[in-house]
Amino acid sequence: MNRMKVAIVGAGIVGLANAWSAAKRGHEVTVFDRSTVARGASVRNFGMVWPIGQPTGGLHDIAMDTRARWLELSRASGLWVNACGSIHLAHRDDEWAVVTEFAAWSKANGNSCRLLTASEVLRMSAGANPEGLIGGLFSEAELCVNPRTAIAELAKWLAGTFGVQFEFGSAVKAVEDDQLLMADGRAFVTDRVVVCGGADFETLFPEVFTTAGLTRCKLQMLRTVAQPDSWWIGPHLASGLTLRHYRNFDVCKSLAQLQSRIAQEAPELDRLGIHVMASQNEFGEVILGDSHEYDDQISPFDKVQIDDLILSELRKVIRLPVWTIAERWNGIYAKNPRGPLFLKAPHPNVRICTATGGAGMTMSFGLAERVWEDWDLTMNSDFDFNKRLS
Ligand SMILES: Cc1cc2nc3c(=O)[nH]c(=O)nc-3n(C[C@H](O)[C@H](O)[C@H](O)COP(=O)(O)OP(=O)(O)OC[C@H]3O[C@@H](n4cnc5c(N)ncnc54)[C@H](O)[C@@H]3O)c2cc1C
Repeated sequence: MNRMKVAIVGAGIVGLANAWSAAKRGHEVTVFDRSTVARGASVRNFGMVWPIGQPTGGLHDIAMDTRARWLELSRASGLWVNACGSIHLAHRDDEWAVVTEFAAWSKANGNSCRLLTASEVLRMSAGANPEGLIGGLFSEAELCVNPRTAIAELAKWLAGTFGVQFEFGSAVKAVEDDQLLMADGRAFVTDRVVVCGGADFETLFPEVFTTAGLTRCKLQMLRTVAQPDSWWIGPHLASGLTLRHYRNFDVCKSLAQLQSRIAQEAPELDRLGIHVMASQNEFGEVILGDSHEYDDQISPFDKVQIDDLILSELRKVIRLPVWTIAERWNGIYAKNPRGPLFLKAPHPNVRICTATGGAGMTMSFGLAERVWEDWDLTMNSDFDFNKRLS
């Protein structure tokens, strides 16, 4: 393939993944971001690379492909990546029923999850709350990255390794067939453009997004101070509430009973989309979350009730030496109800690539590779990227 000039709009994980895929193919890549540093969903997340959340098949393959690329990046750049795995904790009988069913299903389907007894969980994790603990589901595939440092380091590595140019503080106001029009009046002539604007999916192509059916989702998050004395949580921890969040557990018949118990016991958890998870970064800080509010539910103002519910649910299932909260924030991502990506070709040289939902850190490298592999195919207006992946 000839060396082309490629412009990427957006320096979040999706933009950087596309920059990596294009640069690897020998293209001359420039990334534009209107912020002076990346500030979108990609620096606000848990940093969980979470293949277990993806259903077996094409989506799980992409998550595992992305996982391999994080590890490759870590080897090449020294970026902190912790291959910590994950445990879904079961403190209730119906949670144990779901993880037991999933472990059996997973074994029959060539997946590497396994059941742990309560004492095995406690040997692996200093963070699991022993009170009422029945056991857990361990998966070794999950990674932990620190999004705040990873996104900045990845940009630096792309610049140093492939000569990718970064123009931060440069808002793109229009994309024409072969050029970007910048807010400062410049025009940037290019052969290919990939628009990775995250949750801002209407500024550049309002007519495409009017009919796209994408939604926005707001999450509230918290971070503790660094835990003392090198205390280490072990694998990422997720509670039984998480079993109703990720699609992989849809294969379990026992899930319905768990869902109906929560709907009766704590309807506010369903209403606010709360399930709870914890990850620990290289500084010993524990990232806690989260909630899910969609479209019209989204307020610019955070709800204290959500933070309180997240903390009270977490305290039931995990224990930390110190619960002092150092920071609270929210993040918004774009989600395509039909699949893990929204990919459109408004012009043969332009792709709009967004809506990785709650799995951008888990899926972006693998997705971007397929966007570049299938560039010509995706020009066809009938091409359905999500159908191809499922
Ligand atoms: C709180 C939270 C927790 C999450 N946890 C996880 C997790 O643990 N694991 C996981 O896999 N996923 C997680 N996710 C999802 C993941 O963070 C997102 O899927 C991913 O970050 C989306 O990346 P993006 O590049 O599309 O968007 P963003 O990171 O939002 O980047 C878009 C960029 O485009 C720029 N931009 C937009 N328009 C223009 C323009 N016109 N000109 C120039 N620049 C422009 C913006 O400035 C921004 O920097 C979480 C998300 C949130 C919000």
